[in-house]
Amino acid sequence: MRVQPTLLIATANRGKLRELQALLGGLKLLSLRDVGITDLAEPGSDYRTNAKAKALEASRLTGMVALADDSGLEVDALGLAPGWFSARFGGQHGDDEANRRALVAAMTGIAEHQRSARFRCAIAVADVRGPLGERVLLGFGSCAGSVLTAPRGQGGFGYDPLLVPDGFDQSLAELPEVTKNQISHRTRAIESVRPALVAYLAHRPA
Ligand code: IMP
Repeated sequence: MRVQPTLLIATANRGKLRELQALLGGLKLLSLRDVGITDLAEPGSDYRTNAKAKALEASRLTGMVALADDSGLEVDALGLAPGWFSARFGGQHGDDEANRRALVAAMTGIAEHQRSARFRCAIAVADVRGPLGERVLLGFGSCAGSVLTAPRGQGGFGYDPLLVPDGFDQSLAELPEVTKNQISHRTRAIESVRPALVAYLAHRPA
């Protein structure tokens, strides 16, 4: 019987980790915490470069197949900011509350019909000691909506309380987690890489 390789989810963000674990149910998973890594560098200024760098670094450090996510919120009225800079928009990396405050402040006075935005996500899978070598598998996804003037809801993470996805009346933090996991940028990125990932894991030499 073929043993399925374990996939390392290479994110230090607890919200992303929870969602990725739900989206990748069925595969054998470990988190960065399980392997004693606290964080990974993001050297670039676009989602693809950062996802690729994080996946390669995690795979290099552990010898495992590693999957990394890089994502952010693009707001049209802000010239697509905060974008790849989303985790640091409020000043300190990963301070979700400060990031939301900064976004609300930046959008003061912007009319309702000009508040369009979208989350974007790039997923990269690396396996430096396996057949992939320095190459990666890539997936991309987006989730469009509009930005509220004040946060609403307790679920999700990051900017979820500020984004109402198109076709809904509730923010991503008010919608049930299963609903977010049907429509999110992360879900779409995982779905776009899933066939290649499943085939790769099935054929990778143990
Ligand atoms: P990074 O990918 O680690 O650079 O961080 C992405 C940042 O974008 C996070 O810290 C969040 O602020 C935001 N973000 C990414 N995905 C989501 C999401 O699904 N919901 C809310 N915020 C998100």
